[in-house]
Amino acid sequence: MAARTATIAGVDVSVDHWIAGRRVASKQHFTNNSPVDGAFLADVSAGSKEDVDAAVAAARKAFPAWAALGPEGRLPILKKFAERMLARADDLAAVETADNGSLLMGNKHRLVPRSALNISFFAEWALKMQGHTINSDEVVGHVQYDPAGVAALITPWNAPLMLTTWKVGPALAAGNTIVVKPPEWAPMTCSLMADIADEAGLPPGVLNVVQGIGEEAGDALVNHPDVARISFTGSTDTARIIGGAAARSITPLSAELGGKSPLIVCADADLDAAAQTVAGQYMNAGQVCLAGTRVLVEKSIEEEFLEKVRAAAGHMVVGDPRDPGTRVGPLIHPEHFSRVSGFVERAKADGAEVLWGGSQSSEGDLYFQPTMFGGAAADAEISQREVFGPVLTWQTFQSDDEVIAIANNTEYGLAGTLFCGNEARAMRIASAVVAGTIWVNCFFVRDLSAPFGGSRTSGLGREGGNWSFDFYTDIKNIAVRKDAFTS
Ligand code: NAD
Repeated sequence: MAARTATIAGVDVSVDHWIAGRRVASKQHFTNNSPVDGAFLADVSAGSKEDVDAAVAAARKAFPAWAALGPEGRLPILKKFAERMLARADDLAAVETADNGSLLMGNKHRLVPRSALNISFFAEWALKMQGHTINSDEVVGHVQYDPAGVAALITPWNAPLMLTTWKVGPALAAGNTIVVKPPEWAPMTCSLMADIADEAGLPPGVLNVVQGIGEEAGDALVNHPDVARISFTGSTDTARIIGGAAARSITPLSAELGGKSPLIVCADADLDAAAQTVAGQYMNAGQVCLAGTRVLVEKSIEEEFLEKVRAAAGHMVVGDPRDPGTRVGPLIHPEHFSRVSGFVERAKADGAEVLWGGSQSSEGDLYFQPTMFGGAAADAEISQREVFGPVLTWQTFQSDDEVIAIANNTEYGLAGTLFCGNEARAMRIASAVVAGTIWVNCFFVRDLSAPFGGSRTSGLGREGGNWSFDFYTDIKNIAVRKDAFTS
C-alpha cells in the first residue's frame, strides 16, 4: 500500500504505523480533528491485534542486537536521535499545537527541547548503570542491569511527544526495544518521532509505533505475552484496567496518573510570585496532570491574595494557541469539553460560588474560561475529582495542621506546591503532604535525575534517574564467593 501522509501545519506526517522500520497501514481508520479550530487533520490507521502482534514480533527480533550494543554502543545513535529532534523543533511544535491545542511557543521552547533531553539524558545516564559492586565478608555482589525485553509505552494526549520520550529515552537507553501506542486524540508527533528515529539510524524494529484506540490497540499491547514492561501515563481509571492485565501476566507496570494537587499559600509568602503561579495553573487550559488545582490560602491574607490572583488571572488570554499572546488554548476534544463543563455545572448546582469564569469562552467551541470556585464543600465533587480543565477551587486555612489535613483529603497524591516565607514551617508542611513531588516557592521545576511519580491513586512506582533504570531493567546480583577461584 502506498505511503499515506497528511499535511499538518505545513508538515507531512505519516498516518500509518511504524513497524520493523517501515510504514504499515490498517484497514480501519480513526478521524483526527484539530482542537484549535475543529479542522480535519487526518484519517489515522487504527491498529488491530494483528498490527500489535507484528510490532511486538519486530521488537523481539531487534532486541538481542540492540541489547548487545551496550550503553556505549547505543549512546551515539540516541544522541543523534535527540539532535535530529531539536533540528526539527519547528515542525514538531507546529504539529503538536495543531494536534492537541497546546501553546506553540511553549512547545517550541520548552516541550520539544525537553523531549530531546529525555533521549540524550538517559542515553548518558545509562553509562553510570554499570559496574556496581557490594562488598561483604564472604562475597562480592556484582550488580548488573540487564535489558528487560520489549517495553510497551502508552501515553496521553496532553503532552504526547514529551510524555512519550520520557519513556522512550530510558527504555531504549537501558537496551530494551519498544512498541509505542500514542494517544488517539493527538497521535501525530509520535508518528514524526518514528521518522526522526529512523533518520538517526535506530535499527529497524527497535522503535515501533502502533496507532489506534486504547480499548483495541492499547488493550492488545498490554495483554501481549511477549511484553516485558508496561509503562503507562494516563488516567487512574485506565490504569485500573491496564493494572489487571499486568497483574495476570506478572508484568512490571509503571503508572503515572491523575492528580488534584494542593497549591498552598502561607501569609508570609511572596504573594506576587504565588499569585502568578496560581494564574499559571490555567496554562494549557489546565490540562496538566501536575496542576495545583486546589488553592489553599491562609485566612489572614485571603482578601489581599484573592485580588492579586484575580488580576493575574485576568492576563491569562484565552485564544488561538498559535498566537504568542495566548495563555489558555482550547480543550482537546468535544467529549472532554462536555466532561469539563459537566463538572462546572454540577459544582454550581451543588452551591459552589463562581468567583470568576464558569462557562464557555467566546473564542470558540472548545474554549473554556479560566474558572475559580469558592465555597465548595470539602467532600464535593469539584473539591475531590480531577477536572483536567482550567478550573480551580479556593479554600482557606488557619493552622498548619488544618492545611495538611485539607491537602491530604483526596484519593490522589501526585504533586503539591507551597509558597511560604519560613523555611522550617515550609519543610514541616512539605514533609507532611502526601505527594510524589512538592515544589516550595517554585513550580514545575523538573530535574531528570530526580524521582518522579505519584502516591495513592496518582501512580505506581517512580521514574527519573536511577529509578527509570530500576524499572526498565532486570536487576541481577551475581554473588561471588571471595578467594574461591583457582584461576
Ligand atoms: P486515558 O487514560 O484515557 O488514555 C491514556 C492512554 O491510554 C491513551 O493512549 C489511550 O489510548 C490508552 N488507553 C485507553 N484505554 C486503554 C486500555 N483499555 N488499554 C490500554 N490502553 C488504553 O488518559 P487521557 O485522557 O489520555 O489523559 C489524561 C489523564 O492523564 C489525566 O488523568 C492526567 O492527569 C493524566 N496524566 C498524568 C501524567 C503524569 O505524569 N502523572 C501526565 C499527563 C497526564
